[in-house]
Amino acid sequence: MGSEDRRGAVRFTRDANAVSSRSIGRLFRPNASTRLHGTRYAVALAVLFALTISSFLIMRDFVVDERALDTTMSSIEELRAELATHQIAMHDLVTEMRRPDPDEIRLRGLRRALAASRDRLTADRAILVRAMQRSEVGASAWLVLSDPPYSLDNIIADMTTDARVALAESAPAPDEDLPLLADPREDGFLSITDSHASAARLASERLRAELRTEAEARKVWREQMHTWLGWATVLVLIGEAAIIFWPLLGNLGRESERADAAQNELTRLARHDVLTGLLNRASLIDAIEREIDAADPEFDRMAVLLIDLDRFKPINDTFGHAAGDAVLIEMARRIQASLRPGDVVARLGGDEFVVLLPRSGSSHEVREIGLRIKRSLGRVMEIEGHRFELGGSVGCAVWPADARDVDGLLSAADLAMYNAKRSGRDEPVFYDEKLRKAVAQVRSEEAELRRAIGENELVLHYQPMVSRDGSKLHGFEALVRWNHPTRGLIDPDGFLPTADRAGLMSQITAWVVDHACRQHAAWTAAGFAPGSMSINMTRSFLSQPDVIGQVLAIAETHAVAPSSLVLEVSERVMSEEDRTPIAPLLAMAHGAGLRIAVDEFGLGQASLIHLRRPEIDILKIDRAFVRDLASAPENAAIVGAMIELARILDKQVVIEGVETADQLALLAISDRAWVQGFLYSRPLEASAAAAFMVRLDERAKPRLRAAG
Ligand code: C2E
Ligand code: CA
Ligand code: CA
Repeated sequence: MGSEDRRGAVRFTRDANAVSSRSIGRLFRPNASTRLHGTRYAVALAVLFALTISSFLIMRDFVVDERALDTTMSSIEELRAELATHQIAMHDLVTEMRRPDPDEIRLRGLRRALAASRDRLTADRAILVRAMQRSEVGASAWLVLSDPPYSLDNIIADMTTDARVALAESAPAPDEDLPLLADPREDGFLSITDSHASAARLASERLRAELRTEAEARKVWREQMHTWLGWATVLVLIGEAAIIFWPLLGNLGRESERADAAQNELTRLARHDVLTGLLNRASLIDAIEREIDAADPEFDRMAVLLIDLDRFKPINDTFGHAAGDAVLIEMARRIQASLRPGDVVARLGGDEFVVLLPRSGSSHEVREIGLRIKRSLGRVMEIEGHRFELGGSVGCAVWPADARDVDGLLSAADLAMYNAKRSGRDEPVFYDEKLRKAVAQVRSEEAELRRAIGENELVLHYQPMVSRDGSKLHGFEALVRWNHPTRGLIDPDGFLPTADRAGLMSQITAWVVDHACRQHAAWTAAGFAPGSMSINMTRSFLSQPDVIGQVLAIAETHAVAPSSLVLEVSERVMSEEDRTPIAPLLAMAHGAGLRIAVDEFGLGQASLIHLRRPEIDILKIDRAFVRDLASAPENAAIVGAMIELARILDKQVVIEGVETADQLALLAISDRAWVQGFLYSRPLEASAAAAFMVRLDERAKPRLRAAG
């Protein structure tokens, strides 16, 4: 029986007469056979009803004398133990199932066992939920869990989903959905989402804080009962944390040694990243410090690898945090799988991870491990039916050569990582002194570019595409420039590479689309016929979710018809074999009425393949063919053949970079082809482009008049 002390607070001990979990369980689980026979069923129902009422009354009594909690707690404790057993059993079954070379018959048996286990677990969980919600408000104002802050059902659902996602890749195809749960013996936090984790963290922190003053504890205990029980329901379901919480519930105010133990446990938990189960920043720093203390700078070497995921942010932003979490968990798993025993991996927060190689050996070995990590992060993953292709940038710093303390090592690795990211290199990058200077330079350039975008210093120039004789306008290509306050007009080659490295390319491209559409609309409104507006695309822009929708929306805002827009994609981007193919996206754009041009056509090795693609409307033959005409006269024949092929396949052709009349003469271009080059016009400011259209008009008028 729960005993009472003078001040009336209840101490929670096991109660032999308590309503056990099993009796609560029976209330909710009528025997299957009773359902089969009418009379017996009715009798059973009546008994059940009576039992429910009486147990309710019993419970009320308990509540009144403040022992109901004790009852509830001990029955819940039993249930919790049962749940843990189920979880462990299930985990073992799953592990067994995932062994290589499965024996089909045995596998089927295992699946059946797992399904049965899962059913029992679900049933018991339902009982647990009800048992906790059943406790009533007593006269002495014990309020138990009438409204737990987190719904258990949601938590269970989340756990199951998370586990399924985490195992989607490696699990054998199950014949039904299997809830795969983290092993509570290992790290109960593995299978929960951020919000549950933060609830648990909050509860833990609170407990720790409250426990410091024992005198206060009793009072707080009473006041916080409601809230704590709410947390307890969360904690029960996340395994280990419950084990901490439970002894506290039973012994608060008396057994402070146990509280100490719990506190140690909490500290241990505080050392792990709740989402991925990896070490967190604090424990990583400890680990590095320990290694440094134990190492001899004469003979020992260790390496720190800082890993930052590429293209993670858009996933989080677009598909939500659950998807983002699933990605992080999977990435953590991949990094871990790339390491040797004894290597340490931690999550710094966000999408940053750190690996410590305590006995790093040669830099060749470090590089190999870095490469292995990069390769594993680059593999396509599928989450919630979406295919994601991320990657990771890896920077390495070596002790004691690059730095002798933790901070130094981490910041050196960070610089190297930064360099890896901006250079887009397929390799881990090692820190060196030159790097520090170079990075400082680039960082200031990037900062300036960010400022420039914010302050509207970018401008568009427009280069016309015309017919061979220069009399008809086909359209304009929008070309971006940076109108720098002190350096003057900067060409795209002078700042787009920086923009790309700094991850600003998508933002700039969106800006270009918007301004080009605005200009097109303004010209049309002023009575011009500007033809089409071509906009240069980049891989980073096209990799954004729903990018075509974005472009169409911008066009619509300015009332520009999709068919007036041309997306120029370089042949290089179209042909990148190790990246997600861009053709389906372009087909979608083409289907929505946008037109697609292959930029730099003819430079790549697979040019002719693009000719077959129905989504491609326009080929822009690269300037190189025209530039080298004098030294390579056969270029004229090549260009001629490309124009002819395009004609047969019903595609338009633009010949770029025609600078002189001689070149034009050598090219013998048919009337079908359009030309773009300095011979006709340089890229022009908007007002000059308008003047260009006026001149074309004026040249056309006399002819029209003559014809009329
Ligand atoms: P691109 O797409 O091949 O653009 C055509 C480039 O050729 C332009 O250089 C244009 O000024 C230049 N050009 C045109 N006719 C002639 C000619 O007769 N002779 C010579 N020598 N050059 C000619 P620009 O404006 O410096 O742009 C360079 C590159 O920068 C572009 O090559 C394009 O790849 C990129 N770019 C420009 N604007 C944008 C933009 O808004 N977004 C993106 N993503 N890239 C852009
Ligand atoms: Ca272009
Ligand atoms: Ca081009």
